[in-house]
Amino acid sequence: MEMGCLVQVIILGSGSPLPDPHRAGPSTLVRTAAGDLLFDCGRGVLMRAAAVASGAGAFKALFLTHLHSDHITDLNDIFTMRWAMSFQPNPLPVFGPVGTAALLRATEAMLEPDIGYRLAHHDDLRWRPSSTVTEVERGLILDEGGVRVTASPTDHAPVRPTVGFRIDEGEQSVVVAGDTVPCAALDELCVGADVLIHTVVRRDLIEEIGLPRLTDVLDYHSSVADAAQTAARAGVGTLVLTHLVPPPAPGTEQEWIDQAAAHFDGSVVLATDLLALDVNQGP
Ligand SMILES: [Zn+2]
Ligand SMILES: [Zn+2]
Repeated sequence: MEMGCLVQVIILGSGSPLPDPHRAGPSTLVRTAAGDLLFDCGRGVLMRAAAVASGAGAFKALFLTHLHSDHITDLNDIFTMRWAMSFQPNPLPVFGPVGTAALLRATEAMLEPDIGYRLAHHDDLRWRPSSTVTEVERGLILDEGGVRVTASPTDHAPVRPTVGFRIDEGEQSVVVAGDTVPCAALDELCVGADVLIHTVVRRDLIEEIGLPRLTDVLDYHSSVADAAQTAARAGVGTLVLTHLVPPPAPGTEQEWIDQAAAHFDGSVVLATDLLALDVNQGP
């Protein structure tokens, strides 16, 4: 079988809701034969995309795991830049959980003054920004150019609904789990995947800090051990830990990897912004 191009995963933002000088908000780019697929669009996404020669006009589609603010902070930037830098109508395809269509309508409404300014000012810009939204729950949602994207519900309760995504191209597969606690649907989505990108929090550090606002996040996120156990059950190749809460203090990176390695025999990578992995070849 012909191998084709390797799928590449680029962590655009490895951070969390907490502003961090070194980590943009949650966002992952998966480069495939069908184009650049963007998963979530947290703070600074287009700055990081620019660093890898991608951008709002280049995204084949945007996939949202859920509508928590940190995962959608810069949706308005993508929506605007895709339009304002275009030379012909170029609707943004968006796939996300129920609620995504309303989010896009609200985003467009928020930008109405800006849309008016630019339409009035640029004679050659004669169309409005637009999107095509597909609300998804489970199953095959995109099948194009040999690339298939599958959605599955995850468990981030009380945030509902939430979805994870699996990207398959030839023999290569990547799962973007989003924010979730371990669950059977996620296990199923991950079976045999080459790369699992999983958001994590450090249970031990958060309990030690002891702030109620922070300990609340333990309710609906996977700890490093949880993510590693999911990876082990599903037999994935490489586990990428991202959306790191609290942000790793310099010199403590190995602790995160060791905590995962205690539960998972595959390779473990602690994400940094712009970390790139060639799927099947490792980091
Ligand atoms: Zn969330
Ligand atoms: Zn989050």
